[in-house]
Amino acid sequence: MSPEIPPQSTEIFRRSRINEHGHTYYAYRHWLTDEEAGREALSRSPEFRREDLEEMTVQELELVEIDIIRDFLKRPDTQEAIEQGRMTLGIIKPAVNEGVNFPKNIHSDHHSARYIVERFIEPAWIPEGILVQFAVPLSPEQAQKLYVEHQGKKFFEDLIDYISSGPVTFLLLYDESGRAVERWRHIMGATDPKQADFESIRGTHAPSLEHNLVHGSDSRESAAQEIGLFVEILEDWHDFLQSK
Ligand code: ADP
Ligand code: MG
Repeated sequence: MSPEIPPQSTEIFRRSRINEHGHTYYAYRHWLTDEEAGREALSRSPEFRREDLEEMTVQELELVEIDIIRDFLKRPDTQEAIEQGRMTLGIIKPAVNEGVNFPKNIHSDHHSARYIVERFIEPAWIPEGILVQFAVPLSPEQAQKLYVEHQGKKFFEDLIDYISSGPVTFLLLYDESGRAVERWRHIMGATDPKQADFESIRGTHAPSLEHNLVHGSDSRESAAQEIGLFVEILEDWHDFLQSK
């Protein structure tokens, strides 16, 4: 089953459209944790018929979810938003819960990623601006592509081992004013937590430069490149799920 995305529109990034997309997207995520509530939410979307939803498994749902995100990322208006600085890529690295000062009740990657989103991103960003939140493991090859600019540096191997050691959470963040890259980097804080703002994610929780919990594109160009890599990662994950 492949979903119909509403017809393209250069207005897609007006808030109402983001809401429309976000509605469908969050309904999927909801499904993965609460199947009945997710089914209910999705059936309110014009793209789905209740009867089809009844028959879908969680895995089929994840495949549909990947299709939606991938199609969305390939659209010309999405590409334009990236070029104009309205969209950036963030990553919550593995094992964030090993950071310092973490609440004691947070143990898993899943919970810690949710904590980072709720504690640092949601208060600083309108909810509709958090377009996509998708957890997937990175292979060492994918990690090397992400950090290609650091290839050959002495910390490169450790960096690749760390980022590919468990699931990461990809975030796509939208900022109407065209300052998405800077805005997310501000919330992350400086690369070295010792230099990072106290209010930032790294300043609050990162134990070291090596384990600084989050990643963010550093320019519009790298956002375009890294979002392209995210599409590849989604496609690989799609094939993997389908082969199971
Ligand atoms: P940022 O993640 O802030 O964009 P960089 O792109 O410079 O920072 O580096 C990528 C990642 O590599 C950093 O987040 C950090 O975890 C690691 N790193 C950077 N510089 C060093 C270093 N000198 N020693 C060890 N690890 C480093
Ligand atoms: Mg960087």
